Amino acid sequence: MREALHVIDNELYKLPYSATKEEVNNFKKLADKDIFQCPHCKAKLIVKYGDTKGIYFSHQHSEACEESRKIDQAEKRYRRQIERETSVHNTIQAILHDEISNQAKNNTMIKVDYGFRAKPDLKEFPDIWVKVADREFALSVITNVNSLVDNKLSNTISKRHQYFLEQGIEPIWFVEKKEQAIEREKNSIVLWDAELTIAAKTNQDREWDSLLASLMKDTMFFKYFNYPVSTENIAIDVLSMYYIYSNEDRIVVKVQRFLKDHLVKPYRAFLLGDGYEIPFSDAVLIKNEFLLRNPTLEAQYQNEFIQKFKQLQFDFYEQQRIEKKRQQQEEEKRQKLMQQRLEQEEQRRKILKQISEQKLNSNLETMRVSSYDSLKLLLKKRIGLTQSQQMELWTTFMPVIGYKNSDVVWDLFVKHDCKSFGELRTVLQNFISTRNK
Ligand SMILES: [Zn+2]
Repeated sequence: MREALHVIDNELYKLPYSATKEEVNNFKKLADKDIFQCPHCKAKLIVKYGDTKGIYFSHQHSEACEESRKIDQAEKRYRRQIERETSVHNTIQAILHDEISNQAKNNTMIKVDYGFRAKPDLKEFPDIWVKVADREFALSVITNVNSLVDNKLSNTISKRHQYFLEQGIEPIWFVEKKEQAIEREKNSIVLWDAELTIAAKTNQDREWDSLLASLMKDTMFFKYFNYPVSTENIAIDVLSMYYIYSNEDRIVVKVQRFLKDHLVKPYRAFLLGDGYEIPFSDAVLIKNEFLLRNPTLEAQYQNEFIQKFKQLQFDFYEQQRIEKKRQQQEEEKRQKLMQQRLEQEEQRRKILKQISEQKLNSNLETMRVSSYDSLKLLLKKRIGLTQSQQMELWTTFMPVIGYKNSDVVWDLFVKHDCKSFGELRTVLQNFISTRNK
């Protein structure tokens, strides 16, 4: 029967799991001097060594007392209970035990032991059992939480949680921190079934409840955070999670608070800031209860959250103001553009009118001059043909050129680009004399 622990001066000590032959002999010699005794029946213990068991205590003649037998059975059941956990579990559990044992040394109100040994009659065991004055606590570490085991694990944990409460023991859960499912842009955390089951409600969470109650008087609260709240009348229920992990050789607890929201999968909850990390010793610092917080960091954490809220609130209205201004500018621009278009249209119409007038004039000039009347009109327009010049044209040149050949006169006028009646006269005289040759 393995008994890993013995008592010296009322304190429990563990034997190392492995030891050299020399160390084993040394422990055996100490045992011969009646140093080790059973913590239950106070009987003298001897030290044995086996290849698979390692070094261990045993009652003399291998006759264990009833109590140590019971504890041994309890330990076996406990080992089965934690079969699903990773190796991280043992490490964290050992540190947890050491940490609280250290605090117990300076505080007689505190008693600590492994769950299966403190309460071997329980059906399910916490990893660590702690008693502070007359309050009992069940500390458990959960590792290896993932989607495959989530549903089943959640049920198991939920039952265990309830069972501890029925036994008058207050459960405290730590979850191995892996990747947290945080949706930054929505300010939300998506929780595992199991996580939601073991989330705690501490006095600190109740303080957050009243803080949120005052902030949420602003009906736009969730809008600022871009959080898709499941219902308009959300019950203010802040819960906390204690993620545990090792950080450069230290065990660290991350305190993460959230506002419970979605009650169906996915369990989206409103994230309260980034939380904060505290050394394990601070997390379990025991006054009348487990602190599970650091007062200074907690105050800072709350303050940061309030500042973020104010910043987002400001940004929200600033954004609205900018948007309004942008729309105004857009409208002004649109108006201006319309005005410009109108002016351009007006300009275009003017130009079109000019062009059509010019076209009309040039049409007049290029068309066949079909009558003497039209010839007269054109010359009047171009060189200001006077009455006497008209008479000269009619009596001197037309009889020779032919009364019906007004177009010939006009063609000559255009061809020689005449600028006066004098020039036209010369052109016509040349024409007649050339033709008569
Ligand atoms: Zn015994």
